[in-house]
Amino acid sequence: MFGKMKIDLQNQLQEIRDAGLYKQERIIASSQGARIQVQSGQKVLNFCANNYLGLSGHPRVVAAAQKAMEQWGFGLSSVRFICGTQEIHKTLEAKVSQFLGTEDTILYAACFDANGGVFEPFFDKDCAIITDELNHASIIDGIRLAKAQRAIYKHCDMTDLENKLQEFAAAKYRIIATDGVFSMDGDIAPLQKICNLADKYDALVMVDDCHATGFMGKRGRGITEHCDVMGRVDLITTTFGKALGGASGGCVSGRKELIEFLRQKSRPYLFSNSLAPAITGATLAVLDMLSESTVLRDKLEENTTYFREKISGLGFDIKPGIHPIVAVMLYDEKKAHQMAERLLAEDIYVIGFSYPVVPRGLARIRVQISAAHEKADLDKLLQAFALVGREMQIIK
Ligand SMILES: *Cc1c(COP(=O)(O)O)cnc(C)c1O
Repeated sequence: MFGKMKIDLQNQLQEIRDAGLYKQERIIASSQGARIQVQSGQKVLNFCANNYLGLSGHPRVVAAAQKAMEQWGFGLSSVRFICGTQEIHKTLEAKVSQFLGTEDTILYAACFDANGGVFEPFFDKDCAIITDELNHASIIDGIRLAKAQRAIYKHCDMTDLENKLQEFAAAKYRIIATDGVFSMDGDIAPLQKICNLADKYDALVMVDDCHATGFMGKRGRGITEHCDVMGRVDLITTTFGKALGGASGGCVSGRKELIEFLRQKSRPYLFSNSLAPAITGATLAVLDMLSESTVLRDKLEENTTYFREKISGLGFDIKPGIHPIVAVMLYDEKKAHQMAERLLAEDIYVIGFSYPVVPRGLARIRVQISAAHEKADLDKLLQAFALVGREMQIIK
């Protein structure tokens, strides 16, 4: 049987290659950080990790993971409700709730699973899920798994959102689902306005905080702190796989009854293994560090402001904003990839994004700033952009 399928897949893979859309994995020969070594032996400055706070290889985080593994073992070989819940899992759930200012938290193997399991238990065919058109793939999949009716509103368009809320006025429950920060442009959902509309129309709000937990907001509590809506969002999903150490794992945090219900009904929670002790212990240590001091998120904010100002000053066109995701717009698909290649030759690792990841004609280089970067690293990045930008006649 496979013979026919094999030929078909080979043809489709060739089409992907021919379209220039084949994703090559670049192999790294070091741990994650501001400086990494790639397989060729080349050492590069890394500006494309979600390692916002520089914690992926932080000694205190690695030590906490080792200690947790020694004390609690390597794995649980069980789901949570059979024999896979240790004290550290409960401690981490309490710590996340405290950090985000929510009532309770439930852990998942990844935020992809959290988003996959957060809608289906609550929203049946009498309910409506109203979702931003640019939401992350995992939110889209989570919504697909629910039997609810769905409506897609234009990106961050509050008039369209209000129309959709009115359209589904008869639904038993309505929920608005949005990314807190959208990862291609680094723009932020207008959560004040979203929460106001939710109040007006008696809807719930779900926010995915993956690109914000740990560093957005003055105390790094995430996008709800940044937008001053702490306590007004019913369900927050987030990851431990980005700013919070970057290993893996995720959670849903929010109102007590919602979380209690998820523990009974959410399929990726019920039917998937417990979070490994090393990750659980290390994430606890990360939240302790971020609660003790805001020095890392402050440094990230400074670095981001510095880079955004200087790169604009050079004449590059960037998506405006304040987030450490900085989209340097080139518009032309070829130029974006060519520029990323040239920057790599200058020991700068960034990625060019083009269709279908971003709309046609909106190709860009996405730079991600980290607290692990020093001023000198940012200056080197800016020098390389200036050099290659002039060479390619993108700037004067
Ligand atoms: C990264 C990301 C996820 C997935 O998180 P994992 O923990 O890696 O599964 C979900 N939503 C958004 C918005 C993300 O950026």
